[in-house]
Amino acid sequence: MTFERHKINNRVLQDLKKRSTFGIFFYIVLGFIIILADNYYERHPLFSTLFLLFMVGICLFRLLHLVISKQKGEHYELSTQNIFFISVIATALIWGIIFALIMLQKDEIATKMHTVALICGLCAGGSVAFIPHRWLSFYFNIAMLMPATAVMFVSGSNINLAIMILFFSAYLIIITYRGNLEYWDALENEHLLEIKSRELAHLSNTDVLTGLFNRRFFDQALDLEWKRSGRNKTILSVILFDIDHFKNINDSFGHQAGDEYLAKTAEAMMSVFKRDGDIVARYGGEEFIVLLPEINADHASLLAEQVRQKIEALIVDYQDQKAQTTISAGIMCCTADFNTRSDYIVACADKALYQAKQSGRNRIVVFTPQSESSV
Ligand code: GH3
Ligand code: MG
Ligand code: MG
Repeated sequence: MTFERHKINNRVLQDLKKRSTFGIFFYIVLGFIIILADNYYERHPLFSTLFLLFMVGICLFRLLHLVISKQKGEHYELSTQNIFFISVIATALIWGIIFALIMLQKDEIATKMHTVALICGLCAGGSVAFIPHRWLSFYFNIAMLMPATAVMFVSGSNINLAIMILFFSAYLIIITYRGNLEYWDALENEHLLEIKSRELAHLSNTDVLTGLFNRRFFDQALDLEWKRSGRNKTILSVILFDIDHFKNINDSFGHQAGDEYLAKTAEAMMSVFKRDGDIVARYGGEEFIVLLPEINADHASLLAEQVRQKIEALIVDYQDQKAQTTISAGIMCCTADFNTRSDYIVACADKALYQAKQSGRNRIVVFTPQSESSV
């Protein structure tokens, strides 16, 4: 079973359960009302007791199964869904058989009238409640109405009522069929909307040219990591990269070659920063930024050096022209303190980067207080 299919099955099952749970309490109350009204119980004590036993029994069983399956979780719920379906049909069948037996009894006009009204109401309620599952709704309807209809036809009594119930049953089948189509259309739309909003969320966090995270996402991630670092007193490193003389690539080979170069640079970054939790983003035109939680300055320098070497060796073939340059990086490593904003760490990495550019490019500089004074 695919993940999506599993999710939809579970969603439908939850809907069915939610729609039917309330009815279970009504069945018990209405069972009592039928046998207490018009003193029916006194005239048919054994029949009434058996009816109540079956009705209360199946209702308690269903409630128990609902509670247990909720506690045991999704997997158990899906693997025991047939118990849910069978117990629903069993409830309808108990009502259906009671209805048929009451219709066979002599006299008892008042109880017969109560039962017809009650069963028709319950059947309509149940059929609509089970709209998410077309066959469950259909069998519920048949189990509730057909035993009495058959008894009335076979015994030749109340034929008019039997015909009316047949029409009522067919009417319910038609409206629940249409309701089922609408339910599944709505479910499909909801599912498509969910996929689209996931795609949209992904797009709004991604830089289209390189496939890396964008600056917006980076800023949010940095904010979270900064707070975490402040809480846990853990270190955090940021590396800010800037391609050297990138303007020359655009000027010499064209903007598209420049784009190609940016994409290849992003690939090189991704091949170095592979750890879960590392955030690599395109920060600006030809600037890249990396967030490395719980990585110290030495380790960050080693990683930045790997990128520097890869870029130094990178030759981008664009329409038989070979674009080649280098990259510089500034690193800042610190533990957040609550009096400082998260952009402090980026500002320091930027100062170190400036120093790397000033001292000849194609190098990595780690921020120190001296970097500050040299800017
Ligand atoms: P430096 O070594 O001092 O960083 O020099 P530089 O030429 O890399 O820096 P400068 O800021 O002068 O130029 C950056 C260039 O990056 C200018 C701009 O046209 C180019 N650029 C920015 N975004 C893109 C992009 O998306 N695609 C392409 N092809 N070029 C871009
Ligand atoms: Mg720049
Ligand atoms: Mg540059």
